Amino acid sequence: MHIPHPSFAATLFLVFTASFLAIRGVFARRTRRAKAISRADLRDRLLILAVGVGQVALPCIVVTQPVLAFASRPQPEVCTVAGAVVMLAGLWLFWRSHADLGDSWSVTLELNAEHRLVTEGVYRHVRHPMYASFLVLGTGQALLVANWIAGLSGLAAVGLLMAVRLPREEAMMIDRFGQQYRDYCRRVGAIVPRRRLQAA
Ligand code: SAH
Repeated sequence: MHIPHPSFAATLFLVFTASFLAIRGVFARRTRRAKAISRADLRDRLLILAVGVGQVALPCIVVTQPVLAFASRPQPEVCTVAGAVVMLAGLWLFWRSHADLGDSWSVTLELNAEHRLVTEGVYRHVRHPMYASFLVLGTGQALLVANWIAGLSGLAAVGLLMAVRLPREEAMMIDRFGQQYRDYCRRVGAIVPRRRLQAA
């Protein structure tokens, strides 16, 4: 089978994706495994699968194999430069979210027995910086992967994750932290920072 040499933009995408997986790998190893309360049902696991396919597997296959060629698009240099900048910003936010969330992180919807509510670091500015970083990384993917389907599959999967999971995650946090989480929601925006409320 003929394997085309990936373009520079595609190579950048592969390097950024390897960095993303490396960051996740480091923090997955550091995080305690046993979780006390789990809402990790089939729906939640399918969402994680969709993100894995849309953000990692499909674009990595398409930039290295001659598949979905009918959906390929030209790659202007400005998209490559913008894509690299956006990807670096997304990786920074992804890393900071992991660092600030620490042991409170889990891949599925779960809580530790002694779950710590994090409202500092990047969590001081938005409630869902990790999902925000997925949106930023998805935008970088759209700019770097010169294929309409594999370029946009990351954003599509993350959009689905956010639409389905966000309300369930926040309901779980309110069940656990009650007024403390409601107050946090009032002060801090979900994905985009809110203008600071003036102290009364
Ligand atoms: N939605 C967050 C976290 C994603 S990881 C973000 O985008 O940054 C998902 C897990 O993080 C959930 O199962 C929940 O247990 C935990 N979580 C979410 N927000 C949290 C917070 N502010 N403090 C502590 N844990 C949180």
